[in-house]
Amino acid sequence: MKKIGIMGGTFDPIHVGHLMIAEAVWDEFKLDKVIFIPSANPPHKHSVMTSAKHRFNMTLLATCSNPHFEVSSIEMERSGPSYTIDTIKALKTIYGEDTDFYFIIGADCINDLPTWHKIDELLASCKFIATKRPSYTLDLTTIQQHFKNFNITLLETPELEISSTDIRQRIKKGYSIQYITTEQVQQYIRKEELYL
Ligand code: ATP
Ligand code: MG
Repeated sequence: MKKIGIMGGTFDPIHVGHLMIAEAVWDEFKLDKVIFIPSANPPHKHSVMTSAKHRFNMTLLATCSNPHFEVSSIEMERSGPSYTIDTIKALKTIYGEDTDFYFIIGADCINDLPTWHKIDELLASCKFIATKRPSYTLDLTTIQQHFKNFNITLLETPELEISSTDIRQRIKKGYSIQYITTEQVQQYIRKEELYL
């Protein structure tokens, strides 16, 4: 069986939190690769986002030096809301039945899961890897009682007080974002004058 990790997000912009979590899951679960999938129209985000093109480019710049990281434009090529179940189904068509998908999800998104589109079908279609995030308590028991066939594993990772929201705010205030995201992403943000 092939094992592929899926790192979904808006990546507005991508940061070292995303990269470290993806690498830790790849390592721990002996995955073949992790595919980063920038969401085009996330159903749960309401604020104005940077264009999908910029978010895709930054995700590519941040991941391209890692041989087991990949970026997919699969959600950007679809119109309408970017539902994860549609993405997993499309990936299953591409990769065939001998591939297991591991969907990586941060603690801040876990409580929202029951509201995700076609949640029962989604939970049956892939494994979930939950990662910790500062300020969010991760309680898997409630959700596991609710969804009996929910295959979710908690990965103990260092909690990183890093978010895209913080990066956007720092840029607006003129603060440095050095070391919070990669050098290439910082250069791209400067060149395209993003988040000012
Ligand atoms: P924003 O502040 O705009 O919501 P974000 O930093 O939360 O951005 P997203 O693109 O929303 O980043 O997150 C994509 C995925 O990465 C989610 O599953 C989220 O929980 C996870 N994630 C993001 N930052 C971290 C972090 N510092 N530690 C662990 N998981 C994270
Ligand atoms: Mg977020």
